[in-house]
Amino acid sequence: AKRDGGNRVRQFRREMGEQALARQRDKADLRTAIDGGELVVHYQPIVDLATSAVTSAEALVRWQRPGRGLLGPDAFIGLAEETGLIVPLGEKVLEAACGQAVRWNGEGRSLGVTVNVSTRELATPGFLPRLDRVITSAGLAPNRLTVEVTESVWADEPAMRSLVAVREAGIRVALDDFGTGYSSLSYLQRYPFDVVKIDRSFTGALGRNGRTEGVIRCIIALAEVLGAKTVAEGIETPEQADWLRDAGCSYAQGYLFGRPADAAEWKAAASTGW
Ligand code: C2E
Ligand code: CA
Ligand code: CA
Ligand code: CA
Repeated sequence: AKRDGGNRVRQFRREMGEQALARQRDKADLRTAIDGGELVVHYQPIVDLATSAVTSAEALVRWQRPGRGLLGPDAFIGLAEETGLIVPLGEKVLEAACGQAVRWNGEGRSLGVTVNVSTRELATPGFLPRLDRVITSAGLAPNRLTVEVTESVWADEPAMRSLVAVREAGIRVALDDFGTGYSSLSYLQRYPFDVVKIDRSFTGALGRNGRTEGVIRCIIALAEVLGAKTVAEGIETPEQADWLRDAGCSYAQGYLFGRPADAAEWKAAASTGW
């Protein structure tokens, strides 16, 4: 039994070594991907619930990884955050998104664009100057860009300072996945936000969980008091959309209106009336 235990320890060490190696490899590959143009940005429409018009688009990154296909962000954002690669990655996404918004404008579609920014990125010194450089060189009006952050920013002093500066620069700020993190009413009233995004876990439970309707109504009322707009995420059925519109939610996003799609698909969709 003792020898067996020793084997297990050795096997454990070997697996740990393999994991560390795989991680090193993934990190190196991600670095290459960022510099080598393997990141692809898809855009998901955000619609005005009152008119059904598309008003903006959320930029969602993917990695076209050679031999592995198109990877979703859940496969690599964590690694990017741990390794600091989130900073150059985020800059690529911002450049793509700002450039796309300007291009849409040139095609006669006046759309805003929203970009996910992780707390780690915000907390990195020089975030605002870099952001400013990107929108200036793209030629995008600051108020056409919305930065989406999660409630985790509140636990991070430098990120929070950076966020306040971003908003002062005229860029809009959205609180993503609202209600799933550490929401604090005291932070909410202290720091203004332009948009509150109601997480998919709430909208997905509509009609299934008796308390959900009340909770969503409260989020909408709270946003209104704070002077923020609401975007409901993960809308998949017309019933959900109707209920949210009646409840006073301003905007919605979800597969019902459109899945994340690349710029070429957007162009094709425009001719069919998106
Ligand atoms: P998120 O910001 O909450 O983005 C919404 C996610 O929900 C997206 O997943 C989107 O494809 C998915 N979704 C949209 N509508 C529906 C629907 O009707 N039903 C269902 N089931 N899902 C829907 P995605 O693209 O896999 O992104 C996952 C997360 O990765 C994002 O969640 C965001 O937190 C993060 N992420 C994406 N792009 C970036 C980026 O450029 N930078 C950073 N820091 N994070 C990013
Ligand atoms: Ca988001
Ligand atoms: Ca979200
Ligand atoms: Ca999410």
